[in-house]
Amino acid sequence: MGIIRVISARVIKYYSYILKNYYKEAKRMTFKEFKFKDKLNQAIENAGFKEPSPVQKESIPIILDGYDMIGQAQTGTGKTAAFGLPIIEMMSGDSGIEALVIVPTRELAMQVSDELFRFGKILGFKTATVYGGTAYNKQIERINHANIVVATPGRLQDLLKSKRIKLNPKFVVLDEADEMLDMGFLDEIKNIFRYLPEDRQTLMFSATMPKQIKILAEEILNSPKSVTVTKSERTNSDITQKFYVVSDYERDDALLRLIDYKNPSKSIIFCRMKKEVDRLSSYMTSQGFKVAGLHGDMEQKQRERTIRAFKQGLVEIFIATDVAARGLDVNDVSHVFNYHIPFDSESYVHRIGRTGRAGNKGEAITLVSPNELRTIKRIEKDVGTKMISRVVPTRQEVQSKKDSNLLNEIIKTDITPSAIELVKELQHDIDIVTIAHLLASIVQKEIDVKGKDIIGLNQEEIERLIEKNRYQKGRDGNSRRGRRGRNRNGNRGDSRRRDRSSRRKRDRG
Ligand code: ADP
Ligand code: MG
Repeated sequence: MGIIRVISARVIKYYSYILKNYYKEAKRMTFKEFKFKDKLNQAIENAGFKEPSPVQKESIPIILDGYDMIGQAQTGTGKTAAFGLPIIEMMSGDSGIEALVIVPTRELAMQVSDELFRFGKILGFKTATVYGGTAYNKQIERINHANIVVATPGRLQDLLKSKRIKLNPKFVVLDEADEMLDMGFLDEIKNIFRYLPEDRQTLMFSATMPKQIKILAEEILNSPKSVTVTKSERTNSDITQKFYVVSDYERDDALLRLIDYKNPSKSIIFCRMKKEVDRLSSYMTSQGFKVAGLHGDMEQKQRERTIRAFKQGLVEIFIATDVAARGLDVNDVSHVFNYHIPFDSESYVHRIGRTGRAGNKGEAITLVSPNELRTIKRIEKDVGTKMISRVVPTRQEVQSKKDSNLLNEIIKTDITPSAIELVKELQHDIDIVTIAHLLASIVQKEIDVKGKDIIGLNQEEIERLIEKNRYQKGRDGNSRRGRRGRNRNGNRGDSRRRDRSSRRKRDRG
């Protein structure tokens, strides 16, 4: 009986796998199918876009057909190209400003206009950006020469009200509508639309759909079509996702060890609360890292300054809450660290989407305590991805990696005349081998790995824990599974000592 059940389950699993892949393959499409102008297709290819994202697949045909549209999708799903490409395709290029995009912040205005410029320049379209805090005259001049204008609500309203500019766009986009609502721009938006022509195609994008946004949509959109992309459909799969099982008191040690080991160019550490952001910021600063905290109640100016410092590399690590990192688009973030696993899957998707942007590879690293393993399973299921378990490298392992990097560096370094002088002087009193030892000791002190040797669970312990969770789940479901593999006491202490010697063999990474 048992064997037959196992075999038939395997067969069903195999066929459903084949079927799923068949449909996946059949559904795959390219940008060619939208039949854009050759030049626009060229620009898409140059941008490295191969396959349209889900929101792009659904929105582009609707927009090309001339409908108003309301799109709901999370950050990082490719909304800019979803509206930008069809609009650019339909623009004639001969009559002033044809497209107006309204975004909540200056930062987003720059991002969106960069992306639109990337696609539009090949067709000779000019893009202007309009936001507060800069001189009017220069901005107005740029607007007068532009085909596409990307603007924040405050300054745009100013310019329209004072009649310094007149706009007659065929396409109007309201991007990140819910964020504009959060920032209190609702009145400005309504005002702006009074100055816009009735005869226009209007598109609205929002990550969430609060009531006020729905009401606004009724006011400014004309029989719109809706596009909703679920949270699991994402733009890119270039993000490797790993988790490490550690005890709560080991989180700080694990984080520092992993940063030491991974050596990220730029990274973001996510915390659940502002309090944690503050604590971790001062702790990491005291450990010599260039960090900055980013949380929800920062002023816009301060926030922008911090983000600029991050982009320029003056700050290497951002420590942020979910709210604060919303919409953050920095291209070269190599690692995202989840100091705590987020409560909901949506936040997880959003957090890890801060890395692996613009075609780069990224790594998302999550620290969990043994009792949070169930959250991992739930997120994997919701998001449809797999997180791989890994073991925090030992001090020794990080040290040897650093030492070998140091050796490489020494071999590659050019000898300077002043170094020769220095060694000559030392040679009066000390023999050359001792000098070498002394110099190496000085350098090595700099790369000394701190902290205890072993942090968190090893691979065997993680597997045992996973097995235990699976058993518990089975028991709830009235399964007849045996007790095999279950560690009834969860007595980690003993196995830890025993496993120490076998730790070398574990998966690193
Ligand atoms: P959203 O506005 O939904 O937050 P963006 O439009 O800013 O997302 O896109 C996020 C990132 O994904 C950008 O770096 C963008 O260039 C990239 N991107 C968008 N669409 C694609 C695609 N089809 N293929 C590859 N990368 C894409
Ligand atoms: Mg966007």
